[in-house]
Amino acid sequence: MSDSVKLYLFKKHLEFLERKTGKGTELISLYIPPERNIADVMNYLKEEYSQAGNIKSPRTRKNVQSAIVSIMQRLKLINKPPKNGLVIFAGTIAENNKEKLEIYLLEPIDKINSFIYRCDSKFFLEPLKQMLTYKRDAYGLLVIDRGEATIAILKGKNISIVKHIESNVPRKHGKGGQSQRRFERLIEQAAHEYFKRVAEKAKEIFNSIENLKGIIIGGPGPTKEFFVKEGYLGELTKKVLDVVDTSYTDEYGIRELVDKAEKILKEEEINKEKRLVRKFLEEVVKDGLAIYGEKEVRNAIENGCVDIVLISEKYEKYRVKISCRNCGYEYFETIEDIKKLEKEIAGKRCIKCQNTTLEIEDYKTLIEELSELSEKTGAKVEIISTETDEGMQFLAFGGIGALLRYKI
Ligand code: ZN
Repeated sequence: MSDSVKLYLFKKHLEFLERKTGKGTELISLYIPPERNIADVMNYLKEEYSQAGNIKSPRTRKNVQSAIVSIMQRLKLINKPPKNGLVIFAGTIAENNKEKLEIYLLEPIDKINSFIYRCDSKFFLEPLKQMLTYKRDAYGLLVIDRGEATIAILKGKNISIVKHIESNVPRKHGKGGQSQRRFERLIEQAAHEYFKRVAEKAKEIFNSIENLKGIIIGGPGPTKEFFVKEGYLGELTKKVLDVVDTSYTDEYGIRELVDKAEKILKEEEINKEKRLVRKFLEEVVKDGLAIYGEKEVRNAIENGCVDIVLISEKYEKYRVKISCRNCGYEYFETIEDIKKLEKEIAGKRCIKCQNTTLEIEDYKTLIEELSELSEKTGAKVEIISTETDEGMQFLAFGGIGALLRYKI
C-alpha cells in the first residue's frame, strides 16, 4: 500500500473514532510502545481494574471495569506489540439511545514513544493526530567542512543526529619551500581519506533509510560543493536535492540545514503530485495511456494494465456489498451516503427471489477497496490532495483516473 493511501486510511480511522462518546468518564485509551512488555501492561491493567472499584457511580464503575476486561482479553492473544506499537480504544459507546461496549485495535503509522493510559468521555487521539500533521518521507542530511561532519536523518519533523565525525586534517600554515609542498600533499591526502570516511558512513546510513526521498548537504565553505562534485557519495549523488550554506557543521548546522531546506522539501512533495496530474492530463488529451471514471479504472485494474491509480482525497465514496438474507444473492454498489442506501434497500425487492430481504453486508471506503484490488495486480494508488491547482483540476475532472502500462 502506498504511503499516501496508508495516511488517508489512518486519517479516516481517526475521524471515525473521534465521533465516539461515552455517557460518563468511561472510554479507555491505551498506548503501548513497541518495546513494552505485554505482561507489564497486563499487571498495570489489573491495578487499574481494582482502582476502578472506587468509582462512585455504579454504572461508570461497571463500564470501566468491563472495558478493562475486554482489553485484557485481547492482549492475551498478543505476544508482543507490533513494530510501531499498539493502540487500544475500548468503552461503552452511547449512540442513538443505545449503549454498547466497543473495542478497537490500531497499529499507528509511526512509532509510539510513551505508554499512555487514559480514561475519559472521549477517546484520546492527540498522539495519533500528530502523526498526520507531518510528511512521512525521509531525507538524509549532511553538513561538512574540513574540520568535521555531521550526518542526520529527517523524518517528518523529527531530526535524528546519527553520526558526528572529526577530521584529522592538519591546518595549512606556511613553512615555505620544499617541505611546504610536501606538507600540502600530505594535507590533501588526509583530506581525501577524511572525505572517504564521511562518505562511507553517509552511504551506510542513508542506504538504510526506508523511503529515502533525497539528500541535502550543507556547510560553511566550498568543501561541501567539492565533496558532491567529486562524487564521494557514488550512486547516492543522484539523490542530492540541494547544497546550501550553513554556518556550522555540528548539530546546529543540521538545524540550520533543515530550516533552509524546508521550502525545498515542501516543493518536492507538491511537485510529485503536480507531475502526476500533469502527466495524466497530457495522456488524456492525446488519448494515450490514461483513463478516468470509476468503472473504467476498476476494469483496467482487474485487467492488470494499470500502473498508477490517481484518486482525489475528496472522492469520498463507499463500496458496499449488498446481499439477500433469503436467497443469498449478492451485488456491489458504489455510493456516497450509507444511511440513504440503508433506507433505499429496506423497501427494495431482491431481483432473484422478489423478497424485501436485502441488507448491507459489508462496506469500505472506495479508496481502501481500490487499493486492495490494485495490490493484487501490482498497481500503485496515489491520493491527490486539493492543495494544488493541479489537484483541483483533477477533482474537477471527476477525481478518479489511472495511468496505464499499456493501452487496453
Ligand atoms: Zn433474494
